[in-house]
Amino acid sequence: MIYTYHYDSPLGGLTLTSNGEALTGLLFEDHELFDEMMPEGSVPVAALPEEGTQGSAEDDAQESAEKGAVEVFRQTVKWLDIYFDGKDPGFTPPIRLGESDFRNRVCEIMLDIPFGGFMTYGQIAEKVAEERGVSRMSAQAIGGAVGGNPIPIIIPCHRVIGADGSLTGYGEGLDKKLALLLIENSEALDIIDPKSRQIEFPGTIDHINSQLYHSEKCDKILWHVGRPAFMQEALKEAKKAFYENEVPVGAVVVKDGLIIGRGRNRTEAAGDPTAHAEIQAIRQAAERLGSWRLTGCDLYVTVEPCTMCAGAIVWSRIRSLYYGTPDPKAGACGSLYNIPQDERLNHRTQIYTGLMQKESSKLMKDFFRKLRQKNPEE
Ligand SMILES: [Zn+2]
Repeated sequence: MIYTYHYDSPLGGLTLTSNGEALTGLLFEDHELFDEMMPEGSVPVAALPEEGTQGSAEDDAQESAEKGAVEVFRQTVKWLDIYFDGKDPGFTPPIRLGESDFRNRVCEIMLDIPFGGFMTYGQIAEKVAEERGVSRMSAQAIGGAVGGNPIPIIIPCHRVIGADGSLTGYGEGLDKKLALLLIENSEALDIIDPKSRQIEFPGTIDHINSQLYHSEKCDKILWHVGRPAFMQEALKEAKKAFYENEVPVGAVVVKDGLIIGRGRNRTEAAGDPTAHAEIQAIRQAAERLGSWRLTGCDLYVTVEPCTMCAGAIVWSRIRSLYYGTPDPKAGACGSLYNIPQDERLNHRTQIYTGLMQKESSKLMKDFFRKLRQKNPEE
């Protein structure tokens, strides 16, 4: 009998599986093969009873297997809680490896990589080759064994990277691999190819739950994964504006790690000089919250807001403003004025600049170049 238990992690739901003696699997519930990987006929354990709760004396075999599973889940949950708090759990819950000696040896080697450390595929290949007394081990075989790891995170296959600093494959998704390395503040971050950091994070926003969003310890994850992910969404809006022949500015309002307002510049289409991206996003967020006070909300916008939008930011009590590229000609959040931080007003907003600046400014430059090509005399 296989028992399962659900765990909510900052990176999304996890399903733990146990045979009653050890942990046999750990699956991300958003994995595309989740249904296929779930053992058939498994029995979910809904809640873990208080530690030390005694059962009746006449437990049958099945009941004692379930008790074993509960104990395994308890230890695994303890491990995961410590881990997602950004600390080294310092122990390994009872785990069961697979049938293949080779794969198991690779898992053991991975288990020896310390929290915050890393190894390359080549280093693992070399180690296995040496132990087996062969001159060479194929990196592909190692890659297969690393990728076939049934208990990711705990058997830390995310700590294995390419020799060139590439993140390379991770069955659970490269965004999760990077997030795990960030949680550990891994040494690997120093050598990871900057290109692999520019991962698109589809769906990740939904995984950054409020717990992670408010945890200062995980601030680094937010900075590297969450904040760029939100700015990425603002950029998507800006790109839509670009193709609609509007000045390409996009914005999103975020509360508790979720996007509650979106907007893109629509001044031409709407024939409305106030139809700026920020105004649209703020309006949508206020409607969603049923209040004009956007307390605890952050605004992500690709270009520095103008005087009007800076005013709206103050009036709506936006907590923090993240903008991509400054606007030296009309910016009112640091360039010409700094309205959101004017001491004379009754609300001040934190301002962070430069998030995905290159992408935001390129979009603007491309737009005005296109405009000049269309109207060369202007
Ligand atoms: Zn504006």
